[in-house]
Amino acid sequence: MLTMVGYCWLCHQNLYFAYHGICHVCHQKLKRLQNVCPRCAQPSESKGISCGRCLRHPPPWQQLIAITDYAPPLSQLIHRYKYQNTPQLATALARLFLLHWLQGYREGRWHKPDSILGIPPHRKKRWQRGFDHIALMAHPLSRWLQCPYQPDLLQRSRATLAQRGLSAAQRKTNLKHAFLLQGDFIDKHVAIFDDVITTGTTLHEASQLLIRAGARSVQAWAICRTL
Ligand SMILES: [Zn+2]
Ligand SMILES: [Zn+2]
Repeated sequence: MLTMVGYCWLCHQNLYFAYHGICHVCHQKLKRLQNVCPRCAQPSESKGISCGRCLRHPPPWQQLIAITDYAPPLSQLIHRYKYQNTPQLATALARLFLLHWLQGYREGRWHKPDSILGIPPHRKKRWQRGFDHIALMAHPLSRWLQCPYQPDLLQRSRATLAQRGLSAAQRKTNLKHAFLLQGDFIDKHVAIFDDVITTGTTLHEASQLLIRAGARSVQAWAICRTL
């Protein structure tokens, strides 16, 4: 049998299963999003139902599913993954999301989608990074959930500026007609995966395309949600 020594990416202890990437203790310690609106994942008092903002202006997606706030330790792992050339972190991050998603699935909080799409990375950034950080996480997720990942169906139609550092209004203009969608989505339940959801403008743009193309529901998936 092939044995492989692995260490937890967070506490550096030996792992029983190297492929887990994160140990049980660190996994348990993650501070999950609590008391948030299921639709926008922003703090909300109304338990389990959409917050006032979402009732007044319903976003084009039905659920926003993220493990934690964009804060340590996951924010540091994502930073290391994306900016310090550590594609090996993809499976560990994807697995954290899988466990989080499965828990809600078992509790009947959401359904299994028909397909998974990813927010396509900027071409230039992808080239600089040397890997597609969304695809590397979405592939194992798709395998584990037995749900097809179809990255070619949602593409960037033109080079947009990176959203970081732009104001909300600038983000909106920047993303207008930024994506091209193809394929048949009529009556489909679709999940869109991103690493971090900040203002949700990118997600909004992509989800709206899906709904206009006839999708029945959209689940927004992310490792972290900026609060
Ligand atoms: Zn650990
Ligand atoms: Zn809400």
